[in-house]
Amino acid sequence: MAINTNSFTGNDSTKASVVRTGCCIVGGGPAGAVLSLLLARQGVSVVLLESHKDFDRDFRGDTIHPSVMEIMDEIGLADRLLQFPHTKIQTLTFRTADGSIVGGPDFSHLKTRYPYIMMLPQVKFLEFIIAEAQQYPNFQLVMGANVQELIVSETHPNGFEGGVVQGVRYRGHGGWHEVRALLTVGADGRHSRIRQLAGFVPISTSSPMDVLWFRLPRKPEEPEDAMGRFGGGHLVAMFNRSESWQIAYVIPKGGYQQIRAAGLEALRQALVEVVPELSDRVHHLQEWSHVAFLSVESSRCSRWYRPGLLLIGDAAHVMSPVGGVGINYAIQDAVVAANVLSQPLKASSINLNDLAAVQRQREWPTRIIQAFQSLLQRQLIARALNTSKPFTPPFFLRLPILRTLLARLVGFGVWPVHLRSSQKTR
Ligand SMILES: Cc1cc2nc3c(=O)[nH]c(=O)nc-3n(C[C@H](O)[C@H](O)[C@H](O)COP(=O)(O)OP(=O)(O)OC[C@H]3O[C@@H](n4cnc5c(N)ncnc54)[C@H](O)[C@@H]3O)c2cc1C
Repeated sequence: MAINTNSFTGNDSTKASVVRTGCCIVGGGPAGAVLSLLLARQGVSVVLLESHKDFDRDFRGDTIHPSVMEIMDEIGLADRLLQFPHTKIQTLTFRTADGSIVGGPDFSHLKTRYPYIMMLPQVKFLEFIIAEAQQYPNFQLVMGANVQELIVSETHPNGFEGGVVQGVRYRGHGGWHEVRALLTVGADGRHSRIRQLAGFVPISTSSPMDVLWFRLPRKPEEPEDAMGRFGGGHLVAMFNRSESWQIAYVIPKGGYQQIRAAGLEALRQALVEVVPELSDRVHHLQEWSHVAFLSVESSRCSRWYRPGLLLIGDAAHVMSPVGGVGINYAIQDAVVAANVLSQPLKASSINLNDLAAVQRQREWPTRIIQAFQSLLQRQLIARALNTSKPFTPPFFLRLPILRTLLARLVGFGVWPVHLRSSQKTR
């Protein structure tokens, strides 16, 4: 519940509400939802604004990494989360066209209670986290709240143009509304409106690929673990979703329109060429609406904060899908933000050093993993997609030790993030 509600005249002259709170979080994805819960548990007054009317989203990533499971464990939620129907990825093994095996990550040897990636529909994860947050009276969720403006003070603190961010204006039920807050957090994803309003321009690095996501039926006797195939201009990864395979079909950057123009039958044939065992069910791919297109990006802002405002998750840095670390990194940002900012928010005194500390702790892990993703994209993916030369995987991918190292990097990030002991339940 937020405090102190009155009314103001919005831009379209309709009377609407003004809510005052400690922290206004824009965006109910993994970053915003987890930060809301962690702050609410600490007694901070939080308003979470989400533009959609529900949390349902297909193909936005359903991965829960070991580091996130450990964080859930620290707040006493891991066992309940594991009660949702889910599948687990323990290893991901790639096979080349000549049949040789190239190691992907092997999570099964990680030293953790959770040596796997849990595959759970993101909607279930978000609903679970939000339901937990809703147990705290100091948390308020507004769905259908499309944030469009920042509220900025006239004063210009030293070294910063543009004043202090004091909250947001959003369009929602009944017209315009305001949330005034000590801190506004932009957790509104890769196309962040908050980032744009704050004047931050992300630095992008180019990627050689885009990804098509779709599902095909899976037979009960087929392997449980994730598998991939590549070579001859193709790269396909398949993740066990119990009744179905969730399939990532990697295409050269910018090639989507050409693939669409060639038609679904051509896509079906190309898929069967690289994964022949799908020939008996590829006909289930009937419409382009069954195919989700992910334009692969990798970018990060050079600054994640300004007075009164912090960016986290995809709003601060969009990760390449290599290793599927976007959700993991977004949640780790939320944990660091909660570790650093809970006390200052409770004391109603946030300064720039606090916000800088969040970026400092998260920027290098982000840069390192982005550099590593970029190396794999160049050395492996771009070469696998190249039809003009026969594909031989780089030697280092054949080293068994690499499978565990990869799993460590993918599962935990550059270094694991944990809640401060004062925030842990156990
Ligand atoms: C097709 C696809 C597949 C992916 N697969 C994986 C995967 O397998 N594993 C993985 O780790 N990552 C994956 N990702 C990346 C992953 O989805 C993101 O890295 C992760 O969701 C980032 O979390 P976030 O909370 O920062 O942002 P998001 O999850 O993008 O959440 C942002 C939220 O902000 C809301 N919002 C946006 N604008 C406004 C506004 N103006 N006002 C109010 N609310 C707003 C949005 O509705 C959304 O709910 C995938 C992404 C895509 C597109």
